[in-house]
Amino acid sequence: MNISERIQSIKEKLPKNVNLVAVSKFQAIEKLQAAYEAGQRIFGESRALEMRDKHAQLPQDIAWHFIGHLQKNKIKYIAPFVKMIHAVDSPELLAEINKEAAKNARVIDCLLQVHIAQEEHKFGFSTEDCLSYLRSGEWKNLSNIRIVGLMGMATFTDDTQEIRSEFQSLRQCFDTAKKECFAQDDCFCELSIGMSDDYPIAIECGSTLVRIGTAIFGERQ
Ligand SMILES: *Cc1c(COP(=O)(O)O)cnc(C)c1O
Repeated sequence: MNISERIQSIKEKLPKNVNLVAVSKFQAIEKLQAAYEAGQRIFGESRALEMRDKHAQLPQDIAWHFIGHLQKNKIKYIAPFVKMIHAVDSPELLAEINKEAAKNARVIDCLLQVHIAQEEHKFGFSTEDCLSYLRSGEWKNLSNIRIVGLMGMATFTDDTQEIRSEFQSLRQCFDTAKKECFAQDDCFCELSIGMSDDYPIAIECGSTLVRIGTAIFGERQ
């Protein structure tokens, strides 16, 4: 299958309310172009300078989602155009994104990353810290960001039960946050879970954004 056929075949498996983020990190620009020509409009990148350079070379109607760990000193490279930042893992980072968004007179959509995997090296709030930060309401003072949902990554394992239970724990956290902190706020609606190997499970657990790279573009360079 070529890139266009792979995108079509994945999209056929996605319910209407689930959007596909084509994870194009480390992939050559020609491959992104092929995905664009197949109708793909949301692309995910995990390095700020790479995203900036690709943004400059591709059509302007692409929604760029930053999905990786973002360092504070790199926000400025993507703040002028980035549509959504998936992996916000601290209140300090959120405040810095707000500052850079304000400089560009923009509002940037953000997801809080919650650490659900067993692996320690993965970033993110614990579910408790995420909920207590949201309950604090501190973020309401940040008028150039919008918290639109939560993001997580499951453990890298073949154990589908483990993956499912991790996604379910994030879903529960999302439901609690929605009920307690965003009941009147339709913007808080995104659950970013699911990658090439686990997206069918993520969909069963309520994903609204699947982040798929290798299943579209093949192995990264
Ligand atoms: C690379 C990456 C993906 C895509 O992974 P694939 O296994 O290639 O689909 C998804 N999410 C994040 C955060 C990533 O860094």
